[in-house]
Amino acid sequence: MSLSRIVIIGAGQAGANAILELRTQGYEGSITLIGDEPHLPYERPPLSKEVILAPDSARVEILSAEKLAALQVNLITGNGATRIDPEARLIELENGDTLDYDKLLIATGGAPRRLPMLDRLEQGVYTLRNLEDARKLITVFAPEKRIVLVGGGVIGLELASSALAKGCRVTVLEQESMVMKRCAPALLGEYLVGRHRAQGIDVRLSARITRAELQGEEIHLALDDGQTLVADAVVYGIGILPNVQPATTAGLEVEGAILVDEHCQSSHPDIYAAGDVAAQRRQGLDRPLRIESWENANNQAAIFARHVLGLAPPAVRAPWFWTDQLGINIQFVGDMAAARWHLRGDLQPGTDSAFALIGVTEGIVVAGITVNQPREMRNLRRMVDNRLCFQAEQHLDLARDLRKTA
Ligand code: ADP
Repeated sequence: MSLSRIVIIGAGQAGANAILELRTQGYEGSITLIGDEPHLPYERPPLSKEVILAPDSARVEILSAEKLAALQVNLITGNGATRIDPEARLIELENGDTLDYDKLLIATGGAPRRLPMLDRLEQGVYTLRNLEDARKLITVFAPEKRIVLVGGGVIGLELASSALAKGCRVTVLEQESMVMKRCAPALLGEYLVGRHRAQGIDVRLSARITRAELQGEEIHLALDDGQTLVADAVVYGIGILPNVQPATTAGLEVEGAILVDEHCQSSHPDIYAAGDVAAQRRQGLDRPLRIESWENANNQAAIFARHVLGLAPPAVRAPWFWTDQLGINIQFVGDMAAARWHLRGDLQPGTDSAFALIGVTEGIVVAGITVNQPREMRNLRRMVDNRLCFQAEQHLDLARDLRKTA
């Protein structure tokens, strides 16, 4: 089949990078990018930080209008895809228009998982996923406001940090016994809890809301330990649900996320998926893996682009992501479920220390975390990618340069 029409649904990180990769690799056919938001493709990592703290200087754009024109992209914004017909290779849009494709990439991302108990209040309750959500928080996070963040994951903790920087009185409610449990080991979680508390953030673990009600302008939250919290605003970040609707109705294999193979190809050979919406089967893994990260969105977009063009895939590297909280940069690489974690450097609870953690499973370095040591991440990445044997006397001794061991 000749390839002259590629359509991408979803104008986020994966969608934008797919365009760049297709053109870089020499594809000359048409590209249509369909977005349901009114914006050009933009980056999400700054939404919880720079967009709230420095709205005038924050830069989020991935592809400008000029760049999209130069790349000869047919851009559709504010008009999402509602239906896909895989046999006719046809897409229907919200406004009723239809489009044909030869190959389709679904990169529709996800939407915040909802908490009906809070949504029901219809006032003073926020989530964060898109640019409008972030812009609302610029004024919500005003000095002295009592802000409760529900969910102690990356979103909750980054927003706690931004709210604190804006002079708010901040509480974090995490239902688990530790923060960032989904994506970080307890050792790091404990350090972060200490750090947030030392800065004045009231972090409550194993905390569940049993009742929420509006009293005038205030939100009253009853917790399961019998305490009550009063907030001017509640923001919750309890994970996302992949936007699978058009894939499901198209009859693709979907299990919470669109199932794809190592080429990012779905159960229909003309349809691919990438980024937060995709769960990928990989060699050596017993179940499909969905990774929510900026890097994964870019990688999978590149895998898609190269596969449709018949080119070899990019090299597989261990997953990498980062978070910035309270002025601390934390980077992660590899398998956060590593069996043991070893400390390299000096971890002083509650203080602004710089250190690294090395994750080891069966004697092999499978993961690394840097805290305020971004330069060390390059070495840890290499150690993980090369599956180095862990050697405590070499890898934990600060007098020895990790560059030389990797
Ligand atoms: P996000 O990307 O939105 O931060 P994560 O999955 O990294 O998503 O973190 C979400 C956090 O929210 C997890 O630590 C999870 O335990 C917590 N959580 C989920 N539901 C609730 C709830 N009802 N109350 C408090 N915390 C919750």
